[in-house]
This record gives sequence, structure tokens and C-alpha cells, in this order.
Amino acid sequence: MKTITSINALRKELDVLRSKKKCIGFVPTMGFFHEGHLSLMRRARKENDIVVVSLFVNPTQFAEGEDLDTYPRDMERDAKMADEVGVDYIFAPTSRAMYPDGYGTYVENDTISDLLCGVSRPGHFRGVATVVAKLLNIVEADRAYFGQKDYQQLCVLKLMARDLNMRTKVFMCPIVREKDGLAMSSRNVYLSERERMRALNIHVALKHARTMIQDGERRPREIIAEMKEIIKTSVDKIDYIALLSADTLESVTKLHGKIFIGVAAYMGGTRLIDNTIITVK
Ligand code: AMP
Repeated sequence: MKTITSINALRKELDVLRSKKKCIGFVPTMGFFHEGHLSLMRRARKENDIVVVSLFVNPTQFAEGEDLDTYPRDMERDAKMADEVGVDYIFAPTSRAMYPDGYGTYVENDTISDLLCGVSRPGHFRGVATVVAKLLNIVEADRAYFGQKDYQQLCVLKLMARDLNMRTKVFMCPIVREKDGLAMSSRNVYLSERERMRALNIHVALKHARTMIQDGERRPREIIAEMKEIIKTSVDKIDYIALLSADTLESVTKLHGKIFIGVAAYMGGTRLIDNTIITVK
């Protein structure tokens, strides 16, 4: 496995491989790997000749006062983990290389970026879409892999790839959870043991929503009310609990088809998100 920091150096390497008809799978990340990241890399490994993983804590997706400076980083550990799952290249550019002086071009989706996480994180998806568009232009991958954990992000990126006629195909990989059900996240290291225990109720509420739907409930409001009861005493603040069409992220009055059930909540200063998708007949 090679670690490359220069955009041009990576391009040169990948151009040679492309000329040999190698297909390239790409996993964009902010590093501090856990099994969720590794599951994306394993899938990319299975489906492509070459696997590129980017490791870049992207400043433009963090708002003022968010955790850009304290975001966990461990490049050495990450490189070892990526190597073990058969990654070929880690691309770790500097902020200066990605956003040189005078940088001024951004990618903005204006259909689904201002709801759910976009409400409490204004500008977040603009930053995400911009950095991923840049990375896709650099890597020119055949396939790129993203986690369902960040479902709204995945929807924004799928739309971006479609709307801007990008060649790279975007794929979704399932949420990887700890044994007790907590969705893995690099930010889980911020949680104290007690907070971590309390955070489990987010998963419990999502499971409860699934059970209610399986038992015949079709009214989103009733489900949200019961989920709120489960979560409200465990977390410090609920940001949102939402049941929406999984295809469009539009609200529905009666559950039908593919439904996204999402939760965002604050545990102290840590913002946690989790979701599940269920098909309602
Ligand atoms: P991040 O480093 O947090 O930006 O995440 C990089 C990629 O890993 C994104 O596509 C995330 O959706 C995905 N990811 C993060 N956590 C998980 C998880 N628990 N299961 C599956 N994918 C995940």
C-alpha cells in the first residue's frame, strides 16, 4: 500500500493503471477508521482491481464552533488498518492542496440539503458535495462507496453524481454496529462510558419503530411520539426524529414504500446520528 499526499502524484499513478484497463474503487473518509470504514474498503476490494481510500478531514463541511480541530486523527493506525484489508492507495492531501489561496468554487444541492442534518449544520452538505466532487475529479473512480450511516449525505452525493453527469457510480453500504447495537462512528470516542450506554437508546427507538410498522402502524406521528418517549430521557437534546420517503426524503402522511427512519441527537457536545430503512407494503 502506498500513501500519497500530492494530487498530481496520485493522478499519475492512476492514469497508468487506467491505461492498463484496471477498474478503480474509491472510499472517501475523514479517517480514524473503525469497522464501518473497513466494510466499505472490503466491498471496494471485492468489486475493483484497485482500491483508493482518501483520508482528509474536510474543513469546509464543519461549521464555526464544530469539532474540526478536535476531530480524532491517527494516520499511522489508519494506514495499518487499510493495508490489512488490501487497500492499494491512501490519498491524504493537505488542506492547502485541496483549498489553495483564493479558492472559490462550491457544489451545492438545493433540493435536500436544508432539511434533517442541514437544519442544524448549515453549509455542511455544500462542504461535503464540494470535497467529494473534487475527490471524484482527482481519482476518477469507476465506483465510490458510502455508508448508509450518513444517509442524507449519500442521497446528496447520488444526486450530485446524477445531476453533474459524473462517471463514478455511487454505492451504499449497510450500517456497521457495535455488538450492542450502537452505530459505529469516529465521534463515539467523545462519549463517556455512561453517555455511550445512554446513546444505545437511539438504536432501541429505531428498532421499536420497525416493530410498530411490522405490527401494522402506518401513522408517522404515532411512531415519532413513541420514539421520542424512548430517547428523550437518555440524550441531552433531540435534534430530529423523522420518517420520510427514503427515495426523495419527502414527508409522508401514511407510510408506504421505502421509508427512512432517522434520528439525530446530542449527547453532551457530541452529535449522534443513526437510521434504519424499511419497506412498507
Ligand atoms: P467519515 O470518515 O465519518 O466521513 O465516514 C466515511 C464513510 O464511512 C462515509 O461514507 C460514512 O457513511 C461511512 N461510515 C461511517 N460510519 C459507518 C458505519 N457505522 N457503518 C457503515 N459506514 C459507515
